[in-house]
Amino acid sequence: NENLPVPAYFIVTFFISRLKSSINKSKPWTALTHQPNNHLREDPEALNLASSDYGNIVKETPAAVLEPSSINGVVHLISYAYNNSIPFQIAARGQGHSVRGQAMAKNGVVIDMSALRRNRKTPGIVVSCRRWTTGEFYVDVGGEQLWIDVLNATLAHGVTPVSWTDYLYITVGGTLSNGGISGQSFRYGPQVSNVVEMDVVTGKGNMVTCSPKRNSELFHAVLGGLGQFGIIARARVALEPAPTRVKWVRMLYSNFAAFTKDQERLISLNGRKQANALNYLEGMVLLHHGSPDSWRSSFFPLSDQPKIISLANQNSLIYCLEVVKYYDDHTQSTVDKDLEVLLEGLNYESGFKFKKDVTYVEFLNRVRSGELKLQSKGLWDVPHPWLNLFVPRSRILDFDLGVFRDIILRRNITKGPILIYPMNRSKWDNRNSTVIPDEEVFYTIGFLNSSGFDEWKKFEEQNEEILEFCGKSGIEIKQYLPHYKTQTQWIQHFGSKWTTFRDNKFKFDPKHILSPGQKIFNS
Ligand code: FAD
Repeated sequence: NENLPVPAYFIVTFFISRLKSSINKSKPWTALTHQPNNHLREDPEALNLASSDYGNIVKETPAAVLEPSSINGVVHLISYAYNNSIPFQIAARGQGHSVRGQAMAKNGVVIDMSALRRNRKTPGIVVSCRRWTTGEFYVDVGGEQLWIDVLNATLAHGVTPVSWTDYLYITVGGTLSNGGISGQSFRYGPQVSNVVEMDVVTGKGNMVTCSPKRNSELFHAVLGGLGQFGIIARARVALEPAPTRVKWVRMLYSNFAAFTKDQERLISLNGRKQANALNYLEGMVLLHHGSPDSWRSSFFPLSDQPKIISLANQNSLIYCLEVVKYYDDHTQSTVDKDLEVLLEGLNYESGFKFKKDVTYVEFLNRVRSGELKLQSKGLWDVPHPWLNLFVPRSRILDFDLGVFRDIILRRNITKGPILIYPMNRSKWDNRNSTVIPDEEVFYTIGFLNSSGFDEWKKFEEQNEEILEFCGKSGIEIKQYLPHYKTQTQWIQHFGSKWTTFRDNKFKFDPKHILSPGQKIFNS
C-alpha cells in the first residue's frame, strides 16, 4: 500500500474497510469472539459435527459453532443476535441425536452444549432435599447434562428421577424439548411432567426462572417446545427413593388383540404410589426375518432363540410385551409374588415367558451395550430414517392390520426395532407444548430403522406410506419427535395448540432466532 499513489491508497483502504465491515455484517457474531465465556469456531471439524446428526439424512452447515464455558456465553450470544441489526439464527445442539436436522442452524450459529458440560466451573448436577422430614428430593440439572450422569449422581444419594428415555446418552435439554418417554410414562408421565422449575434463556437473551406458578407461560411453552422459546439452562427434576434391582419379564404373543388388551389392563394400574403396579411397560413387534434380540438390549437366552424364531416364522410377526417391577432390600422377599399376581391371567403364548433379574442401572442403561457393539462394527453412524407416532387406542387394531400386517410385511425392508406401548393421557400436562392424541389411552409406535447410506429413501417411502394410510383411514395420529416440510403441516400437527404456540413464539422469540432446524417458522 505504501507504494501506491496517495489517491489510489485511499481508494484501496476504503474498499478494504467496506469489505471488512460487510464481512462483519454477514458474520455479526464475530464480535463475540473476544468475550471470555466464548470460544467461537469456524474450522471444518467443528462445522462438520454441527451439520450432521444421528439421522444422517439432513446436512445443514452453520457459519460458526459456539463452545461456551458458562451459560453467560449463551446469554451473550442470544442477546447479541437479538439486538443486532441483522439477527442471526441459533440452535442449541445437545448430543445431536435428532434425526432430521432439528439441532442445526444453516448459516447461523450452533451452540455446542457439550462444551458447557466440559468447561463449566460450577457443578452441572446438584441434588438437594426439599423436606428432610418427608425425604422429598430434587435435582438441579444443567440443560447440557446427559441423563446417564443424572442417574449416577442421584443414585449416589439413594434417589432417582422416575421418568426416563430408553437411551441415556442424550441431554436433559434435548429430551425436555420433546417430551421424554419410555416404559415408565404410563405411570409417572413423560419427563416433561416431572420438571418443577427451569432457568431459560429466551430468544431475547433474558435469563428467566419459571415454574407452574412463576412465569408459567414460558415454563409450559418450553416443555415439549422443540427449542422454539428458549434454551433450557437448568431444570429442577423431582426425585424418589431409588430401587436397587429389577425383575424384568418378556412375554410373546401371536394375537395382537390379546397383546394390546393385556398391555392396557396392566397400565390401568398406574397410581404413582400404588404398590401393586408395574414400574415399566413397553412392547415390540418382532419380524420373522429379524433377530429377536435387537440393539436395544440382548435379552432372550441363546438356547430359546430357535423356538422364538420359529414362532415368528409361523405368524410372520409376533408381539413382545415387556414389563419391569423394581425392588430393594425391603421388597426382595415379596417382589416375585407381587409380579406373579400382576401377570396372572395374561394371554401370552404358553412357554414364551422369559425373565431376568438385573441391577436398576443395568436395566436403565440397557441400550448402551448395543450401541457400543454397533459402534465397534461401524453401524451406529448410519442413516436413521425413523418415524415415531402416537396412535389413539380406538384405532390400534386398524393400525396393526394396515401397517404391521400389510405395509411392513409387504415391503419387507424393516431393520431395527419397532416399539409399541400404551400410555395414559392423564399423566401428561396439557399446558405443555407436546402434542398427543385426544384419547385417554394412546400408543407410542416407533419405527427405529437403520439403513445403508444409499438406501434410506426406501425407508422414507415406507414412512410416507404409513402416514398416508393413517390419513386415508382417518386414524388421527400425532408425530412424536415431529418433522414437517410446511407450516400448514405444523399448524395441523399442533391443532388447537397452534395459536398458543405461535403467540408464545412472538412473546419469547419474536425475531425467530432459536432452533431454525425444526422448520416451524422458517419452513
Ligand atoms: P439434540 O438433537 O441436540 O436437540 C434436539 C432439539 O432440542 C433441537 O431443536 C435443539 O435445538 C433443542 N435443544 C437441545 N438442547 C436444548 C436446550 N438445552 N434447551 C432448549 N432446546 C434444546 N426419546 C424419547 O423420548 N424416548 C426414548 O426412549 C428415546 N430413545 C432414543 C434412542 C436413541 C438411540 C436416540 C438417538 C434418540 C432417542 N430418543 C428418545 C429421542 C431423543 O429424546 C431426542 O432426539 C432428543 O432431542 C435427543 O437429545 P439431544 O441432546 O441429542 O438433542
